[in-house]
Amino acid sequence: MQFGNSNQMFPVFFGVWIVLGLASTGFFFFNKNAGLKRKVWPPFMVITGLLFIGFSLAIGIPGNALYLMVPAVVLITLLNLRSAHFCNACGATIQTQNPFSKRTFCSKCGAKLER
Ligand SMILES: [Zn+2]
Repeated sequence: MQFGNSNQMFPVFFGVWIVLGLASTGFFFFNKNAGLKRKVWPPFMVITGLLFIGFSLAIGIPGNALYLMVPAVVLITLLNLRSAHFCNACGATIQTQNPFSKRTFCSKCGAKLER
């Protein structure tokens, strides 16, 4: 599959990637609205995954590498969705180390985190 001119695509994807990374870090770090972050997080993770696949195509990975990459990206996206918690008490974003643990406590204020 030919995906445009990779020399032209690369700076575009790289720019989007940087902007998205900075914006999301700022948003999830400084925003204290747990409900809003809980809504934004899933679509954000999906967009990031799609962008990552697009980025890989833009820098010219072979098409058949996608058969490995798409499931890997889906898996990472699901793990990221599971491992992120947003504290209702203080609004902090908490990434748990173990995505399979059922319940954790806020590392900022110690409140119990709901799922
Ligand atoms: Zn908290």
